[in-house]
Amino acid sequence: MEKEIADIAIIGCGPAGLSAAVNASIRRKTVDLFGGELCVPKLQKSSVVNNYLGSPNISGEILREKFLEHAREMNISIRRNIINSVMPNSHGVFTLKAGDADYNARAVIIATGVTVDRLIEGEKEFTGKGVGYCATCDGPLFAGKDVAVIAYTGEGVEDANFLKEFCRRVYFIAGDKKVFNGLKDGIEVIETDKILAITGGGSVTGLRIDGRQLVVQGVFIYRETYLPDTLLPGLAVQENHILVDREYRTNIAGVFAAGDCTGKPYQLAKSVGEGQIAALSSVNYLDSGQG
Ligand SMILES: Cc1cc2nc3c(=O)[nH]c(=O)nc-3n(C[C@H](O)[C@H](O)[C@H](O)COP(=O)(O)OP(=O)(O)OC[C@H]3O[C@@H](n4cnc5c(N)ncnc54)[C@H](O)[C@@H]3O)c2cc1C
Repeated sequence: MEKEIADIAIIGCGPAGLSAAVNASIRRKTVDLFGGELCVPKLQKSSVVNNYLGSPNISGEILREKFLEHAREMNISIRRNIINSVMPNSHGVFTLKAGDADYNARAVIIATGVTVDRLIEGEKEFTGKGVGYCATCDGPLFAGKDVAVIAYTGEGVEDANFLKEFCRRVYFIAGDKKVFNGLKDGIEVIETDKILAITGGGSVTGLRIDGRQLVVQGVFIYRETYLPDTLLPGLAVQENHILVDREYRTNIAGVFAAGDCTGKPYQLAKSVGEGQIAALSSVNYLDSGQG
């Protein structure tokens, strides 16, 4: 059966992603909207918002619920999937991976917010040289080898089980969230949040954790958020912000970005506005026959 292809995939269900989804739907495009367990997470932590036009002194939780209700009213559903990789293919379609599920779209809007996660020492240096974020994409390169999975989400469990099918040894580092239910037998679980460094020369040869040096050739990392250029290699970024033009186009044709992930100020109104522009730009991109 042919895989369904959405017009626009939107990664992130914060204000920018929801605004993009609402506007793309109004323009009659099919939308796949992806997000983690909690949408618009930052507003849940905000007791009062005073600078969102039309809603003075509103509690963050009430504004958050209004955003989600707006999307629900427009029949926009949210797939509770963390996307860990986006890959363009030769037919102008993008494949988005979430664990072992994949989704296709003709245009992509990245609205993932900013991540304050600290990278592991060596992570950036070895990305693509042993460090990966998607076992379905890169796992087969490690057949017969030893790998470590560092998991802050349940997707790490799925991918560790997949890697166990063909890797010699799989270590599972449960991180601070300690999600390891459902792991296959034979995977060594290490409970520590002291992950010190990924080490190697031209490629990964080890992982240093609390009091131990693991000898591994691959390290797979699963978080709630990813740096944009680890999500989509080749994406132009500056200081972890995605570079965009005034249409919120990135350097990759068919890929747009909106919200905190494009830079400061980190504010609601900016995110909602950018989500709208990115949606309209992706509609223009599709309607002009580029996608
Ligand atoms: C405590 C607090 C109070 C604030 N108060 C105000 C205020 O009063 N006024 C104001 O203007 N601004 C305020 N802000 C800032 C405002 O909340 C942000 O600017 C705004 O939420 C950014 O929206 P966004 O959609 O870009 O990103 P976010 O709101 O960060 O949403 C990003 C979403 O993407 C999801 N995501 C990330 N990566 C992936 C992935 N790989 N796959 C799938 N989903 C993914 C995340 O889970 C999240 O749901 C506040 C922020 C905080 C933390």
